[in-house]
Amino acid sequence: MNGQKKSVGVISGKGGVGKTSLTASLANLTKDDIEIKSIVLDCDVDAPNLALILPAESSEQVETIDTFTTLKATFIEEKCVHCKQCIDEHFCEFHALNWNDTDQIPEVDYLSCEGCGACKVLCPEHAFNINTVKSGEIIHYGSNIGVPLIYGKTKIGSTTSGKLVSDVKEFASGIDNFNQYNLILIDGPPGIGCPVIATVSGLDFIIAITEPTPSGLHDLIRAIEVVKQFKIPFGIVINKYDLKSPFQDEFKKYIEETGYHVLGRIPYDLAIPTAMSFAKTVVEHAPNSKASLAIKDIYKNLKNVLWNNAKL
Ligand code: SF4
Ligand code: SF4
Repeated sequence: MNGQKKSVGVISGKGGVGKTSLTASLANLTKDDIEIKSIVLDCDVDAPNLALILPAESSEQVETIDTFTTLKATFIEEKCVHCKQCIDEHFCEFHALNWNDTDQIPEVDYLSCEGCGACKVLCPEHAFNINTVKSGEIIHYGSNIGVPLIYGKTKIGSTTSGKLVSDVKEFASGIDNFNQYNLILIDGPPGIGCPVIATVSGLDFIIAITEPTPSGLHDLIRAIEVVKQFKIPFGIVINKYDLKSPFQDEFKKYIEETGYHVLGRIPYDLAIPTAMSFAKTVVEHAPNSKASLAIKDIYKNLKNVLWNNAKL
């Protein structure tokens, strides 16, 4: 190993295809690999669940940092002259202003408010202000497998998931001994939106995981479109590749015709949900299962691609 630091994101066009399970297993495999020192990030900030499989070694070591990036309107009652213009003239496009008949004042619905500032501009009495509020948290600890885990968690109603993803990545780069780690593994968000773009930006390699179903292929194509925009090399992992599905032929045709690199294929294996039910990675819970052996191959292929310039 040449010690060069590499960052790898695991993404999928849709949720539920094994993204977190694969990330956690790859992280687990690094712990016994003397060539690799890894750190894991969960950038699925709207629904982070890597921590369920990789909990903290000790609750005393958990560090939590609040983030403040979301803008919300606040109402300044002293300035209000109860004209009701804000309601009658529909200042708020997002239906976040409701009239309180008893007090004859508007109320801001925190969850609906997008912090656009229209109410602040339009109220003749300047009875609204726009403030930064707590938008989420960054949590950092040493996990039970000895690999540090950092993840973001958005507060309900927050509108800045993409920013939190960037903050998680930036926080990771500032932790003690960051230069000692030569592999950064990132569990990305599903979809193709702002949090995904913030996740893949600047990475060295992307693993796009999918399954041979119509929705799996549809969402894989969308995810790859995002990755290609950033010109990041990528490999595909086909989960449940042996699924009995009438769609298999069409899926195989797509892979053959595009010539995309397949980093590995994971068979359908009950060892995976069983391991999940014990909140463990499959490579730890059932190391000799078919799925674990396939993930070990993926790990080997990934290392070859990252550090030995294996052809994609
Ligand atoms: S907030 Fe402004 S627009 Fe709304 S009732 Fe009060 S003064 Fe009128
Ligand atoms: S800031 Fe925008 S979204 Fe929020 S209450 Fe005012 S107008 Fe509505």
